[in-house]
Amino acid sequence: MGLTSEWARAWVIESVRVIAENRMELTALDRPIGDGDHGENMNRGFTAVMPKLDDLSDGTPADVFKLVAMTLISTVGGAAGPLYGTAYLKAAGAVAGRDELDGEAIVALYTAARDGIVLRGKAEVGEKTMIDAWTPAVDAATEAHAAGKTELAILLAAAEAAENGAVATEPLIARKGRASYLGERAIGHRDPGAQSSALLLRAAADVADG
Ligand code: ADP
Ligand code: MG
Ligand code: MG
Repeated sequence: MGLTSEWARAWVIESVRVIAENRMELTALDRPIGDGDHGENMNRGFTAVMPKLDDLSDGTPADVFKLVAMTLISTVGGAAGPLYGTAYLKAAGAVAGRDELDGEAIVALYTAARDGIVLRGKAEVGEKTMIDAWTPAVDAATEAHAAGKTELAILLAAAEAAENGAVATEPLIARKGRASYLGERAIGHRDPGAQSSALLLRAAADVADG
């Protein structure tokens, strides 16, 4: 069974919930190596998505992601707003016109999201950014799909890889964003954007889990 717009909607609703639930933690991560606003930025953006999602009566998964993109671009601000906005916009483009997403489409969705973030922010793996969650997630999804896994297993593999990737940012020196001004003082702190990315990718799997 493929993933429908019901899944896309459920993912967004769960994203709103987990971002709200974790906003203090995300902001706390952003305090030592940033300006202490990542949780609030993300929460403002995702909260603004909810009423618009209610207005979108039907549509494809791409319509849902495009709505998220537009809302995040106009409400999140900072570095994360345009980065996540581009991610959702490119993700929408990758699955445009499809009513159901199979494993291949999920890989295309996540790959396009990651590529959008790279296009916008030019970060490479190991530079202590959200890319350190997204690229392992894309790799794990690609591998799971190649191994013939189910859609749920692909989403779960990506979520786990993103979580491990977020943890793995802790010993890194940042090369992009505000944390890059700190040099070695960024060592020992988890990147907030990698953490929020892991939360969003876990939410995608949780709602497919039923
Ligand atoms: P700001 O730094 O403007 O306050 P946020 O705190 O909302 O924005 O987001 C910070 C996060 O953005 C970082 O933790 C990092 O993951 C991500 N980030 C910053 N610059 C880049 C970049 N060039 N590429 C990818 N991600 C980035
Ligand atoms: Mg910040
Ligand atoms: Mg800021």
